[in-house]
Amino acid sequence: MINLFDKKESWGKRKRKSQQDKALVEMVKLGYEKSARVKQMLDDAGINPGEIKSREDLECLPVTSREKLVDMEMQQPPYAGLENPDVVIDRIFTSPGPVYEPHLSETDYLWARAFFAAGIGPKDVALNAFLYHLVAAGLTFHNGLRRVGATVVPSGTSSSQVQVQLIKDLKVTAYVGTPSFLKSIIDKSKELGFDFKKDFLVKKACFAAEPLLPDLRRSFEKDYGIDTYQMYGATEVGDVAYECSQKKGWHICEETIVEIVDPATGKNVPEGEMGEVVVTRLNDIFFLLRFGTGDLSRIITETCPCGRTSYRLAGIAGRVGEAIKVRGLFIAPSQIKMFQAKFNNLPLQAVVSRTGHEDVLKLRIEKISPEIGSASWEENFKKVFREICTVGINNVEYLNAGEIKPEEKLIVDQRGY
Ligand SMILES: [Zn+2]
Repeated sequence: MINLFDKKESWGKRKRKSQQDKALVEMVKLGYEKSARVKQMLDDAGINPGEIKSREDLECLPVTSREKLVDMEMQQPPYAGLENPDVVIDRIFTSPGPVYEPHLSETDYLWARAFFAAGIGPKDVALNAFLYHLVAAGLTFHNGLRRVGATVVPSGTSSSQVQVQLIKDLKVTAYVGTPSFLKSIIDKSKELGFDFKKDFLVKKACFAAEPLLPDLRRSFEKDYGIDTYQMYGATEVGDVAYECSQKKGWHICEETIVEIVDPATGKNVPEGEMGEVVVTRLNDIFFLLRFGTGDLSRIITETCPCGRTSYRLAGIAGRVGEAIKVRGLFIAPSQIKMFQAKFNNLPLQAVVSRTGHEDVLKLRIEKISPEIGSASWEENFKKVFREICTVGINNVEYLNAGEIKPEEKLIVDQRGY
């Protein structure tokens, strides 16, 4: 039996698209009527709101980055004129910038999809170790947890010693917070003489706001018996994607439209290629169309065995500024690191140059063991590189051990512009 949060999660591709397009049309229409900013943006682009009929039509509108949103809000405080003035906002969050975000508490249930997918429910006592004041995290995760029926301990960012005490006394079963904070709570518990796995009941953890490094994940799961899940969102747009028990990509939330765009043009990249994650949260309060997260990812379209039919994000590969485009495809340092890990952290460097109009990708590798450099080794090396980074390697240069200095960049771009 497939266990899903609601029917939306099993919608067919056509049904989901038509429902989302319908909600988008309503959002744009309402935004044009209620928000002077949205009206101005569409008028400037020479677009009649009726011309936005589907997600594909969003491409004609500009992407709004966080920096741009800060500027817009400074010019027109507090919400840049993007809000619906007819709605009474019940909470205003802020995040560094500052950016002000109007929220309605009833929309918080959206994080519930993530908690449900992590198996959190009425039998759980969840420690919510996210900050509760000013920023959205604490309260929105809190309400999402309530929505799936869990009892919440709003511990916020109290000291790790206090968190250990709460976990012990209140028989906490699930942790919600950053991975690094869970690590320090575990370390503190050891210091206090506890065996985290034996003495406590924490069996699930949902992380956000920080990347979950593979080693740490393995340690949480193996050493401490904690089943871990990643959640992805941004204060400006709420929850965007969440992991299911398959842990192979993050399902895109039903209430958001996610585009993967070329940051230089704002146009969608071909399906499956890497680009910037651009989010439109379908709602009728805050008409922020096409929010550019600055994060790099790609879409996985294959069906997930968990039963959810939404497309997935393949994690976050890095930030827009860090990536380099080779033959039209982005490569991020994090992808190179992931590739490196497959070869025992072999010291290497990617160098991009240009011959004529062609981009040339060379991999410099330290020949630290005898098998490195054989024809079969190189063939496999290139194959794995293409699997992880999508781009093919043109040539490989073999170096002596120690030739690549630790301070050297992982990706070097030698192309002149
Ligand atoms: Zn799934």
